[in-house]
Amino acid sequence: MKQDNKRTYLNTKQWNYLTKVKKMGPYTGCYGISLDSCRPTEWCFKHCYVRKNNKYELLNVKTALERRTLELLNPYFAENLIIEVNKRPSIKYIRFFLSGDIPEKPKSVFPEKFFNDFHYIADNLPNIPIRFTTRKTHIFPDEIRELHFGHANISISQSLDPQLPEPYFKDMPWTAPEDLPYVLEHMKDKNVHFCINDCPTCGYKCWPDPKSSAKKVFGNYWKIL
Ligand code: SF4
Repeated sequence: MKQDNKRTYLNTKQWNYLTKVKKMGPYTGCYGISLDSCRPTEWCFKHCYVRKNNKYELLNVKTALERRTLELLNPYFAENLIIEVNKRPSIKYIRFFLSGDIPEKPKSVFPEKFFNDFHYIADNLPNIPIRFTTRKTHIFPDEIRELHFGHANISISQSLDPQLPEPYFKDMPWTAPEDLPYVLEHMKDKNVHFCINDCPTCGYKCWPDPKSSAKKVFGNYWKIL
C-alpha cells in the first residue's frame, strides 16, 4: 500500500527537484530553499549571493525557493529525490542548500524529518556525493556529526564568517571568506584550498570520493561566496 502511494505521488510530480547551475557544472543537481530557513549573520546580509542584487526579490526565484521549502515537508520527499536521481544519469553530484539552511519549522516536523530523510537518501544513493553547508552546527551538533560521519557520500561543511569565526568541529570541513583570521592561520594546511566557483575547472575538489577509503574527512577548504 505504501509503495502504491509513493508511485501515485511520483506520477503526479511534474517538476524536477534538482536544477543545474553553471558554476557547479553539468553533473551537479542543486536544491535551494527559502532564506527564512537561515539564521543569518551580519556577514550574510552583506555577502550572501542570493541576498545580493535583490535577486531574492525576483518573484520567480522566491516562488521556486518557497516551493522547494514546502517540498521538504512531503512525506515522500526522500523517495522522490532518489527516484529522480536514478532517472537522470547526468546527475552525479548533489549540492543541497544552494540557498537556505537546515529547516527548523514547523517544530513538530523539523529538524527530525530533515535528518531522517538525508540518512535515507545517502543510504540509497551510495555513489552520489551529496554536499551542503550550514551555519547551524552549534544548534544541531549531534545530528550533523552523525549525518556527516555516518555516510561515505555525504559532506557537511561549516560556514564561517566574522560572527562564526572558527569551525565548531575542527575535524569537519569548513567554508570561509578569505580574510578571516582562521583562514589566514590555516591556508597552508593540507586539504585547504581556494574556491574558484567553477567546479569542473577546480576538479570537484571539495566533494567526497565515495570510493575512497579515507572517507571520513575528505578535505577542508575555503571559499569566497
Ligand atoms: S572548491 Fe571547487 S569543487 Fe568546491 S565549490 Fe569551489 S569550485 Fe566547486
